[in-house]
Amino acid sequence: MFFESHAHYDDPRFDKDREELLASLQENGVDYIINVGADMESSEASVKLAENHSFVYAAAGVHPHAAGTLNDENLKALEDICFRPKVAAFGEIGLDFYYDHSPRDVQRYWFERQLELAERLNMPVIIHSREAAAETFDIIKISNVRNGVIHCYSGSASMALDYIKMGFCIGIGGVVTFENARKLREVVKAIPLERILLETDAPYLAPVPHRGERNNSYYLKIIAAKIAEIKEISIEEVAKTTFANAYKLLSIDNK
Ligand SMILES: [Zn+2]
Repeated sequence: MFFESHAHYDDPRFDKDREELLASLQENGVDYIINVGADMESSEASVKLAENHSFVYAAAGVHPHAAGTLNDENLKALEDICFRPKVAAFGEIGLDFYYDHSPRDVQRYWFERQLELAERLNMPVIIHSREAAAETFDIIKISNVRNGVIHCYSGSASMALDYIKMGFCIGIGGVVTFENARKLREVVKAIPLERILLETDAPYLAPVPHRGERNNSYYLKIIAAKIAEIKEISIEEVAKTTFANAYKLLSIDNK
């Protein structure tokens, strides 16, 4: 029923109960999970997790936080990872000018190089952008990549519509339930359901009333309920349509 388009079950916060949790998610309506890499290590871990669980698929890529660890050799290793079975997307990649864990010019350089690689491999991208909305948009626009999702979207409604025009989907997660997320709820209202993907970003960003706790894909139904409320449609319609959107984007069929 639900397609989890963005989670990090390789995170140490799941070390104690990872297998039990994944088994119970699969039995309780979470039909697919994309486990997303954020550096070389977690990209490799995502692929391993996918290889060990039929309903888990992987994304491989280096997050802007770790952009400073990239070099030509690592980029080649990342390319090799992408050829392994069950790697369904390239990411997460992008810009993060909130934390600035890597210098901004380093972030820009490796974002562009990874976009080029994703284009060459013809893979959908998973984009992370924080406090860098305009620059992220410009870099993507200049690239030839036109297939992917803007994960945990935090920009304006008009920019979301511009991304959609370019061919992208918009990832909506627990933030949509936060009291101060009025702008994001306007985005959800403005964009077509056919371009929304559901995501939790577990273990981060748990929705209300679990805010601050460890997140997990059970809470997709809370996010779906909020989107249903905003769009004045049923939860079932949200689940069904966002499932189809993710299934199509991430080309699970070919894996
Ligand atoms: Zn993430």
